[in-house]
Amino acid sequence: MKSTTTPKRRLMMTGVPASPGYAMGRVQKLVNQEFSVSSDPILPERVPKELSLFQKAVRQSLRELEIAKQNIQKMVSKDDARILDAQMMILQDPTLIDPVLEAIRKEHQNSRWAFHVRMKEIISQFEQSPIQLLRERSVDLSDLYNRMMALLGDSGPVMSMEGMTIEESAILIGHTLNPSHVIKLKQGQAMAFATDTGGSTSHVSILARALKIPAVSGLSDISVKAEAGDFMIVDGSNGLVIINPLDSDIKKYKAKIEAFKRQAQELLTTRRLEPQTLDGKYVKLMANIEFPMEADEVETMGATGVGLYRSEFLFIQKGNPSCEEQTEAYRYIIHRLNPLTVTIRTLDAGGDKIIPELSATDESNPFMGWRSIRVCLDKTEIFKTQLRAILRAGEGCSNLRIMFPMISSVHEIQESKRILAAVKQELLDQGVDVPPYEIGIMVEVPAAVIMVDELAREVDFFSIGTNDLIQFTLAVDRSNERIASMFQPHHPAVLRMIHHVVQAAHREGITVSVCGEMVTEPLSTLLLLGLGVDELSMTPWNIMECKKFIRSVSYEEARTMVHQVMSMSHTDEINHLLKKKYMQKISDLGISSFIVTADFNKSDRTLVKLNDHIVNLDVLE
Ligand code: PEP
Ligand code: MG
Repeated sequence: MKSTTTPKRRLMMTGVPASPGYAMGRVQKLVNQEFSVSSDPILPERVPKELSLFQKAVRQSLRELEIAKQNIQKMVSKDDARILDAQMMILQDPTLIDPVLEAIRKEHQNSRWAFHVRMKEIISQFEQSPIQLLRERSVDLSDLYNRMMALLGDSGPVMSMEGMTIEESAILIGHTLNPSHVIKLKQGQAMAFATDTGGSTSHVSILARALKIPAVSGLSDISVKAEAGDFMIVDGSNGLVIINPLDSDIKKYKAKIEAFKRQAQELLTTRRLEPQTLDGKYVKLMANIEFPMEADEVETMGATGVGLYRSEFLFIQKGNPSCEEQTEAYRYIIHRLNPLTVTIRTLDAGGDKIIPELSATDESNPFMGWRSIRVCLDKTEIFKTQLRAILRAGEGCSNLRIMFPMISSVHEIQESKRILAAVKQELLDQGVDVPPYEIGIMVEVPAAVIMVDELAREVDFFSIGTNDLIQFTLAVDRSNERIASMFQPHHPAVLRMIHHVVQAAHREGITVSVCGEMVTEPLSTLLLLGLGVDELSMTPWNIMECKKFIRSVSYEEARTMVHQVMSMSHTDEINHLLKKKYMQKISDLGISSFIVTADFNKSDRTLVKLNDHIVNLDVLE
C-alpha cells in the first residue's frame, strides 16, 4: 500500500533547535507505542472532569489534524491531505464518540480506557474487512489512536519503548517524547530525534544535549510526514530536518558532520585556559549534569565544578531509589570531582519530569502543580532519604553544595533547612562524619525574586533558574513550541529580575549563579557577565565556547552594554543592539554550537546563518 501520509520527495522542515549536531540515517517511528491503559474505574465525582478531558482531547486532535492537513496540502499534495480528512471524520463520528462518553458517564470508565476499547474494536473491524481499502485505512486509525492516547492523560503521552529495538543508526521520530524516553534512547543509541512538539528548554531537549544526541523539536507534524525507513538528515544546530534529501544535501551534511567533529577537537585545546575577560574579570564556569557518569567529562570540558546536578533523573531511571542507590550515585560525582564544587539539587520532580511512583498525573497544570520542593515538604520521608544519601555521599569531602529547587517563600527554605538539620543530627548521632556543605536555592519563581532580600539571609548562594523564571515571569510554557518565540531571555522584565537578584545577593555577601539554558547563548553570556553574575552553569560541552567568548570581551564593555540595555523597554530593541555590536565577533570566533534560543529562532534567520557557516540560507527557505 502506498503510504497515506509520507512524502517521497525532498521535504525540508524547520522547528526548534533542541540539541546541536548533525545526523543522517533512516527514520524509525515511535509508532510501536504501548499506552499504559488500565481499566481502573473512576470515582463518580470524577466523571465531569473525565468527560471534559476526553472532549478536550478530541478538539485538540482535530486542531492538530487541521494544521497537519494544511501543511501537507501546501508541501505535498491535496490527495495526501485527504487522508487526514478521513481521520477527522472518524473522530467526529457519533459511533465512536457516543459509546466512549456513555462508558465514562454510566460505567465510570476512565477516558483512556473507554477510548482504547472502542477504538481497538473499530481498528479490528477495519483490519478484518474484506474490502481492501478499509483494511488499508486501519493504519490511519492507529495514527489517530496514538494521537488521542497521547492527549488523554494529563502527564502527556504514556509511551513505552519496551520491546522496541532501536537501531544504532536510527533517527527517531515521534509526536512527543518524555524525559524517560530520552534516557532510554541512550541505551538504544539512536543517532538523533525529531518531534512534533517541544521547546528548546524542555527537559527532553536538555537531556538530548547532555547525551549529545542531535535533536529538533516543535516540527508540528513530522510524525505524520516522515515514514519508517525514509532517509533523513537532522540538523540540530539550526533546527531543521530534510526528509529524502538530495545527493547534494547529503554531501553538504557529510562535510558538516566532519567539521563539527573537528571543531569539538579544536575546542578541547582551550580547556585549560582561564575563564576571564580581557580586563581580568574571572567568571566561574560550571557544568549542569543529569547523569553521574557525566562527572567524568566535567574536568575535560574545563568546568570549575558542577553548578547543577538534576537529581530527579536518577529517580526517573530507578523509580524511587533507595538511600544506598542514591548514596552511590551522589558519591560518584562528589568524590570524582573533589575538591571542585558539586551542587546537588534535591528532587525537582513534576512539570515535564514525571516520576510515576511519585508524581501526580491528573493535574491540569503540572508546571505549577504539586512538584519539586512541594513534593519533598509533603513527602518528608522521601526528602529525608535523599538528604541522608547526599550527606553520606559527601563523607570525607569538602566540595558539597545542596540546593533546593522552586523555592517560593521564606517558609519553604526554613522548612527545608530544618529537615536538613534534623537529618544531619541523626547522622552525627550515628557517628557519621558529616561533611561541610553550603546551602542554596534556585531562584526560579517570581515570588522568590520579590522576596530575595529575606531569602538571601537564609542561604549561602543563589542559582537563578532562568528556564523556569522566564516561563513563570512571562507566562510562557517552556515546552510549548507554538509560543517558542515568546520565550524571551532578553525581555526587560527578565533582565531586571536578574539584576535585582544579583544586587540583593551581593549586598548580603552571597554568590549568584545562573544555570538556565540562556547561559549558553553568547549574547546572553555578555549580559549576565555585565549584570555581575558570579557563575555560569551549563551543559558541559558548551563550556569551552562560552569561555572562548568570555575571553574575547572586557567586563567593562559588558557593564556598559548592560547599562544601555537596562534603560530599554523592548526585547527587540535590546536584541538589535546586541546583534549589531556582537554578531560579527561571534561569527569571527566561529562559535557554532551554541543554542540558538527560541527568542531568535523563528524570527531571526541571520543568527541561524551565523551559527552555521555551511548552511546556505536558501536551504532554509
Ligand atoms: C531552570 O529552571 O532554569 C533550571 C535550571 O532547572 P530545570 O531546567 O531543571 O527546571
Ligand atoms: Mg527549574
